[in-house]
Amino acid sequence: MQTGPEIKGWCPGAFAPMPSGDGLLIRAKAVGSRLTEAQAREIACIADSCGNGLIDLSQRAQLQLRGISESTIAQALQRLDAIGMLAPNVDAERVTNVIASPLAGLAPGAFDANAMAAELAIELQRDATLRALPPKFLFLLDDGGPLSLAEVEADIRIEAAAKRGIAIRIAGVPDRAVFVAASGTLDAALRLARAFVELRDHHASSFRRVRTLVEALGADALPRSAGLVMRDCKEARAPARWAHVFGAQRCGAVAFAGVGAPFGRWRADELAAVADLAASEGTGELRLTPWRALLIVTRNEAAARRIVSRADDHDLITSADDQRLAVIACPGAPECPQAVAETRAHVMDLAPLAQKIVGADGVGLHLSGCAKGCARQSASPVTLLASAEGFDLIENGGADCAPRFRSLSFEAVMRELSVRAARRPQ
Ligand code: SF4
Repeated sequence: MQTGPEIKGWCPGAFAPMPSGDGLLIRAKAVGSRLTEAQAREIACIADSCGNGLIDLSQRAQLQLRGISESTIAQALQRLDAIGMLAPNVDAERVTNVIASPLAGLAPGAFDANAMAAELAIELQRDATLRALPPKFLFLLDDGGPLSLAEVEADIRIEAAAKRGIAIRIAGVPDRAVFVAASGTLDAALRLARAFVELRDHHASSFRRVRTLVEALGADALPRSAGLVMRDCKEARAPARWAHVFGAQRCGAVAFAGVGAPFGRWRADELAAVADLAASEGTGELRLTPWRALLIVTRNEAAARRIVSRADDHDLITSADDQRLAVIACPGAPECPQAVAETRAHVMDLAPLAQKIVGADGVGLHLSGCAKGCARQSASPVTLLASAEGFDLIENGGADCAPRFRSLSFEAVMRELSVRAARRPQ
């Protein structure tokens, strides 16, 4: 195990902790969506004893421990290693970014996305060329089963394609894909990743993601360089609906309890409680999702309902109707050094109005501490961007879009949201 952390200000890992206003932020490395109750409990313990007891579940379905200190980080890394949630070294950690279908292997799917994620991780870590991939470069594996990952942005997407086998899509090209048989999937995906590195080197460019490469060189440059051909692929999955994520659910032969924490921020005691429920009422297995929720796998729906009832006692999110789901907010100040102001202080006041203006994915309002907009890359009905004088309000856009109003007070924000809520049919 490598020790001696490298301090960086972006894309936190266990070997590259990110300094924040509340200490160091480190990421436990999960490859795929599976998490055991023992892993969840130990992460809660590590957060308590080595950090400030807070754990974020990220949009990439990864757990991040907050408030780690220089004096506790070595112990935290050792304990993550002991539960199989530490990459072998800093290069492996940086390159292994894979998100897989939350119910992979449990519910019907065209392939086992978790098994494929594990194979992909081995290949990514073995290939010296791929060490040059940018740290945010993301592979996505959607097996076509329940709970689609359609709205999750990724550089290379491996998706079930019904009668056409498996479709490999690249970011920025929504209507075409490379079609492959299951046995050729990883080879094709890795060829695309290597071609990205080579094209970037060839153009002496700072392309940070596939989307920027496609914008600069066109849709065909990457597959052509990889020796692959894209064909029309108009089929698009609808995003997962929260009504199918939260609460007691039955999905084919599987049942689960979908339980979330506001903003994906779990307290150690909440995560430990959920781990205990997974052991006592479930199968001992949890699933990570990009929607702030953990899925606790159970043998039947009655057990899932009991878990939901206990999670309600902890004031966790167990229903798609929960107003807290209508608001997305980044940590803001004081936790993030780049934040201009607080973001989460007024959320509970704003949530009822945000719920009245939600878009198709259930989000009505995005609060961002700066124009980077880490908490949400896609557009929201309303985005509030913190400024020194209040909030800039952006309509139907992201944090980097031009605002409709600048420097609104909180009272003015409430008025603007009320106007938009009143316009919506009830
Ligand atoms: S959007 Fe800005 S303020 Fe918010 S977490 Fe990201 S960098 Fe920090």
